[in-house]
Amino acid sequence: MLNTDTEGVLQEAATGALPGWERVEELARAAHARYRAVDDGTVADYIPVLAEADPAWFGIAVAETGGALHEVGETGVAFSIQSISKAFVYALVCEEFGHERIGELVGVDNTGLPFNSVIALELNGGHPMNPMVNAGAIASTALVPGATAAEKWESIQAGLSRFAGRELEVDERVFVSESATNSRNQALARLLQSYGRLDADPGETVELYTRQCSLLVTASDIAVMGATLADGGVNPVTRERVVSADVARDTLAVLAANGLYERSGEWLFQIGLPAKSGVSGGIVAVAPGKGAIGTFSPRLDEAGNSVRGERATAYLSRTLGLNIFASIDARATEGKQR
Ligand code: GLN
Repeated sequence: MLNTDTEGVLQEAATGALPGWERVEELARAAHARYRAVDDGTVADYIPVLAEADPAWFGIAVAETGGALHEVGETGVAFSIQSISKAFVYALVCEEFGHERIGELVGVDNTGLPFNSVIALELNGGHPMNPMVNAGAIASTALVPGATAAEKWESIQAGLSRFAGRELEVDERVFVSESATNSRNQALARLLQSYGRLDADPGETVELYTRQCSLLVTASDIAVMGATLADGGVNPVTRERVVSADVARDTLAVLAANGLYERSGEWLFQIGLPAKSGVSGGIVAVAPGKGAIGTFSPRLDEAGNSVRGERATAYLSRTLGLNIFASIDARATEGKQR
């Protein structure tokens, strides 16, 4: 079972809003202090450059839908976005293709298997099961609008930058390192093609996918990106509409079911928020209507999720009353200012 280490931490009920600025700030600091010294987990090294990350890095950012941003620890350290990109590329292709069509094309159900599983694809007749594992993410990247690979890249980079509210750049070293070692993703793309499930060149699509995974972000960036999904598709800092409210909703539903790979059920059980993690150590968790928590710390558990990130998010979900399943008897709060 996922160790969230929240023994004795009071579960606040989910209400319509975050507590005031001061309280959010205080709890973000408390979460950082409480889990800073945790040294369980290991830094990913299957993409060679990722092994250079400092295991001590730990940043927590909370972006509110009202536009406020709380930052504690290493929220300015840039890391490659990796799998977190899947959530936002998915939102962009949903915007293009719509609810029904995209649901058919990439699926929404959990595979119960690791993110890079080939078997998951085989067992499902070559149909990707969801866009948050590599097969479904590669299929989603292939659907990005653009007549050429360059135009598709432009759509991805510009789209993810709109979510972040600033121009995101690629870490070329990460891109080169992953490109040299991503034969498994190339195999997944070929397999999709063999089943008639990839409407683009497999090599070109994996290159685009690898480039999207190499975009550099900070904990604060992913918090703002998540808060855009929490804010009906409008970036709470720039106030630009990035996707429709329906697309934001659909993306969060897919994140709830699949964002933490085969640990998604445990995550929902313990933390109760749609979220997405990546192997470089980022996690973004979204509280619809309220905001998002972006954490960054490179030590990962066996499923590839950041250990400190999981714990800090669990702590903040409980203390800020973010768990979407946590309610209390309505009469018990009558007349109380909450
Ligand atoms: N680029 C990585 C891969 O495709 C992303 C995986 C992840 O963050 N879980 O293997």
